Amino acid sequence: EAPCFPFGAGEKGRSADDKWLLGGKGANLAEMSAIGLSVPPGFTLTTECCREYCSNWNGELPPSLWSEVTAQLKVVESKMDCDFGSDSNPLLLSVRSGAAISMPGMMDTVLNLGMNDVVVEALSAKTGNARFAWDSYRRFLEMFGNVVLEISRSEFEEELDNIKFEKGYFEDNELQVDDLKTVVSAFKEVYVKNKLSFPDDVYEQLRLAIGAVFGGWNGDRAIKYREVENIRNLLGTAVNVQSMVFGNMGQTSGTGVCFTRDPNNGKDELFGEFLIDAQGEDVVAGIRTPQPISELETAMPEVYAEFKMNTEILEKHYGDMQDIEFTIQEGKLFMLQTRNGKRGGEAAVKMAVDFVEEGLIDKKEAINKVLPEHLDQLLHPSFSDTESATYKNAVVASGLPASPGAAVGEICFTNEDVVTKSEKGIPCVLVRDETSPDDVAGMYASEGILTARGGMTSHAAVVARGWGRPCICGCSDIKIDEAAGTLTITKEDGSTVVMKAGDCISLNGNTGEIMAEKMGVSPPAMKGDLEQFMEWVDEIKEIDVLANADTPDDAAEARKNGAVGIGLVRTEHMFFEPERIGQVRQLILSKSEAQTKEALDNLLPYQRSDFEGIFKAMDGYPVTIRLLDPPLHEFLPGLEDEEVLQKLSSQMSMTVTELVEEIKSAAEVNPMLGLRGCRLGITRPEIIEMQVRGIIEAALNAIDNGVDAIPDIMIPLVGKVQEFRDQAKLVRATADKVFEETGKTCKYRVGTMIEIPRAALTAHEIAKEADFFSFGSNDLTQMTFGYSRDDVGTFIPEYKRKGILLDDPFVTVDVEGVGQLIKSTVKNGREVKPDLKIGVCGEHGGDPRSVEFFSNDAGLSYVSCSPFRVPIARLAAAHAAT
Ligand code: PEP
Ligand code: MG
Repeated sequence: EAPCFPFGAGEKGRSADDKWLLGGKGANLAEMSAIGLSVPPGFTLTTECCREYCSNWNGELPPSLWSEVTAQLKVVESKMDCDFGSDSNPLLLSVRSGAAISMPGMMDTVLNLGMNDVVVEALSAKTGNARFAWDSYRRFLEMFGNVVLEISRSEFEEELDNIKFEKGYFEDNELQVDDLKTVVSAFKEVYVKNKLSFPDDVYEQLRLAIGAVFGGWNGDRAIKYREVENIRNLLGTAVNVQSMVFGNMGQTSGTGVCFTRDPNNGKDELFGEFLIDAQGEDVVAGIRTPQPISELETAMPEVYAEFKMNTEILEKHYGDMQDIEFTIQEGKLFMLQTRNGKRGGEAAVKMAVDFVEEGLIDKKEAINKVLPEHLDQLLHPSFSDTESATYKNAVVASGLPASPGAAVGEICFTNEDVVTKSEKGIPCVLVRDETSPDDVAGMYASEGILTARGGMTSHAAVVARGWGRPCICGCSDIKIDEAAGTLTITKEDGSTVVMKAGDCISLNGNTGEIMAEKMGVSPPAMKGDLEQFMEWVDEIKEIDVLANADTPDDAAEARKNGAVGIGLVRTEHMFFEPERIGQVRQLILSKSEAQTKEALDNLLPYQRSDFEGIFKAMDGYPVTIRLLDPPLHEFLPGLEDEEVLQKLSSQMSMTVTELVEEIKSAAEVNPMLGLRGCRLGITRPEIIEMQVRGIIEAALNAIDNGVDAIPDIMIPLVGKVQEFRDQAKLVRATADKVFEETGKTCKYRVGTMIEIPRAALTAHEIAKEADFFSFGSNDLTQMTFGYSRDDVGTFIPEYKRKGILLDDPFVTVDVEGVGQLIKSTVKNGREVKPDLKIGVCGEHGGDPRSVEFFSNDAGLSYVSCSPFRVPIARLAAAHAAT
């Protein structure tokens, strides 16, 4: 492939399909050129070149690439009818990065490249606008210094602020020509102070800028962003070299960014902002507060009309909401960039539904436009009763509602503070004047973000929206004193509230309201567009989604979220309540048959009524109940817990000393591999008899009450078929006994968990006897890797840092190892029983990437996950099927 591709009016060669090679921005520039929009000409250096540069050339541009660049530049010069570095008719360039997946705020951009002391005079003479020429020059000096030579931006800002202060100016555009010349000299001094030289040679500028963008691919910021966003397997970033058009040529020029629909709620109206007499960076950096796009209609009606038409063309063309950058140079509109816009959850769903209804896309495409993260946001809680007086009175200030959702957390003024606190599990809100790409780690770790400056498309807003963090921007009623660690809020009535780092604050990202206290939140509901969208999801997915639930309430919640059954009831969870645990303890420690029987008799009614409630909630759907699994000692009281010991010993007619001895003797060295699962059932069959009796009696009762109860009884931690055989026999005998006693019967199945590698390896044997399989992928991962699932926190982070593990295998299924066991189990099991029902009920059942594997590669019948993850698993299953 050629290293460079041209774009601009008349260039029709490439399309958006080339984004892996040209990067998203480059491919879209090519595409916009091809559909005839006015794009300033330029060319794209491919991602392949970036890979070459980073891996083989160690900071040097390969000579063959450079000669291609200069050849392409000639073409641009002739299209623009001006010359790079010319002392009479100069061409200026922008150099921007653009990877195949957009990384907002991560990219390095240099504008106005091709400036020096001669060119600035030429530009001034040519345009008759000295102010503009010098303004462009000072911008270039700052950007080039910052992006290419890594001089801190604040060093330039400080010089600029000093000059503005001396002159008594507030806004940058108050600077006059002479002031700008002073700024330019001051900026050059900044280079000298840093012992760096500013290259007067414009070709040298270009060469260095291209190198810097390529090199930025491996910078800390870019690496962190890719890590957080899970972006892998990209060659690198492309570089777009484009002729400059100028938004800073006076009152008929300007620049802006605009989404074709509202990225917060999905409404079909333009959402954006612009600045007159400014360059692109001014809008995105949040330094000047821009005007809403609707005001462009009055400011420049013709430009607005053309712009509006372009947005419609682009939306139709891409079948998606676009995020557009544009510049107006002396009344002429130029489209600088378009890409599919990042959006919040509510907007994602609404737009997907609207696009289908408008005939832009079909249902499958619509499903692919909504990501699991979007649903996750949508299913997050929001503030309860925002119409109430309590809520209204709590509001102390408001800013721009930049990213929706409710955030409640402790105030942190620095990135580091958020990261440290959140690692300890403390929810935090990041409060800043404005955010920069250096803050991404803190933004990611925060519950929400509040900034004093910046608009709806500022860095904070874009990044927060992408990650679903609630965000309020541009709140001018707050004043942050980072050194003092205070946030001063001026209320509408003029009074002030002073908050400190660590105080609790609440942000409503939907309205922009700020509350100086911890506010209550409530769970969301499925209705409207979301309901419609989820119907399409269910039409398309090929795998069922069940839920793991242990109570009737959880089962009802799961059903509301679309679960078509329960894939796992962890019966031990039913024993944790205070009045039950005493009976369980008695059961474990009892030395006499009478005491055992008493405990079992007391536990039976609890189990029966819980099961009955779950059958009722899941009327018509299977309920998979697992017999007791965990190590018994988990139920035993701590030896220091005197009150509990007292009570239990008198309940069991023992002395405390005797009881302590019993507890000690029940402890195990390695409980995860000890007396748990079916081992417990085999050594204490009376417990299983009680549980099975509870299940069958509950099913019979439910059926009597008109409920279609479908019990699936599941044996845990089977490794040998003989274990399964023993337990299945006991289950069937107990069920028969209940049937005999009651004179009624019901259908039930007896299946097994597959969670020990030995069971996976002998699946063909077990399948002969089991009615269904359910992968316990938590234990299967634990035992395949030999990593204790309770202790992985000590080494997994380091493993990930070192690249030994790409993902935490307890979160995303390990396809190569555990996945192989799963696939062979399915194959061997179905060889014996072609329609064997096989699902998964470990945590992986709610992880989108794992769901894709279970659906497409493993061929499972269902996944089962926690009730609140059910909608996400349904969506992931639909994605897998498209
Ligand atoms: C599993 O091991 O994946 C499973 C579902 O069982 P538990 O997590 O209860 O051990
Ligand atoms: Mg398990």
